[in-house]
Amino acid sequence: MRAAVLEAFKQPLVVSNSWPDPEIGPDQALVKVEANGICRSDWHLWQGDWDWVGIELPLPVVLGHESAGIVEEVGSDVTRFKKGDRVVFPFGQGCGTCPTCADGFQNVCENLVYSMFLGAGGFGEYSPVANADLNLVKLPESVSFVEGASLGCRFMTAFHGVTFQGKVEPGQWVAVFGCGGVGLAAVDIASAMGANVIAVSRSANKLEKARELGAVHTVVSGDDAAQAIQEFTGGGVHVSVDCLGTSATWMPSILSLRTRGKLVRLGLSGREDEGVLPLPADMLVFRELEVVGSNGMQARCYPEMLRMVESGVINPSSLVTQEVSLEGINGVLEEMSNYNTLGYSVIKAD
Ligand SMILES: [Zn+2]
Ligand SMILES: [Zn+2]
Repeated sequence: MRAAVLEAFKQPLVVSNSWPDPEIGPDQALVKVEANGICRSDWHLWQGDWDWVGIELPLPVVLGHESAGIVEEVGSDVTRFKKGDRVVFPFGQGCGTCPTCADGFQNVCENLVYSMFLGAGGFGEYSPVANADLNLVKLPESVSFVEGASLGCRFMTAFHGVTFQGKVEPGQWVAVFGCGGVGLAAVDIASAMGANVIAVSRSANKLEKARELGAVHTVVSGDDAAQAIQEFTGGGVHVSVDCLGTSATWMPSILSLRTRGKLVRLGLSGREDEGVLPLPADMLVFRELEVVGSNGMQARCYPEMLRMVESGVINPSSLVTQEVSLEGINGVLEEMSNYNTLGYSVIKAD
């Protein structure tokens, strides 16, 4: 099948017409990828990042984890889905049987499976999904594949972070640090929930987009961003969402909090930090601050999000800024190195 293949880190992906067709097991499904977003996680993997959390990518590999498509084939044990169903699925697929899955948190399953390790991610023509009955989600007819593509990672990550982990409430001050794909989604979702959102980015056009999506105030990131937020809100934000995850946003997002405020960490660090960042630990005690991580979202939580997408309350499609071909991935990855992309670039099948 056709696929954009990662053969060597930091080198252009190679578009091949002869990547082996993935073979599925009895509980799996094979999805014909109709649209797939290019995410910063793809960029990190392309860079060879995350060895500090034990990720070592076997090469060659087909990345891509924001897929929407049509079920092509299901294994003999799959009962809830059939060929022809329009679907999306989370980038991390739960096993369904470990204690964490039993608690309902398949997004942090102890045996998480990723499509790229089953034969191909969404940069391929077809992508397999583990435990299809558990991890596939029907995509409503009214939601396009391009719109659905972001629901595999960035948009749903922001949804879980803002709603379930952040527990954002109407009228609260919410600061969103970093206005890339996850950040702009967080602005959209938190605004829809009635929060007063302050968007923080170093890029003027991303802040303008954030305003379009409902941010009531914007702050140019820099050393004094936290102080500006403290002053503007008269004591800090209730929830701070770190959507970038590097040292550039980590400390400012904590220092922007009000007493008893909560930091939700969605972004991941890069080579310069290798996952270790300083923490104002005594401040956590004196001001009763909370720090919580957020990792994707499990399939069972999709219906709430999809209802809001269908009714137009939240708008992943407004974040899609360009559609590219498989060959166009390399250009997007290069641009990501300079943080030059705005919103989502989505690969659309021919
Ligand atoms: Zn599990
Ligand atoms: Zn992603």
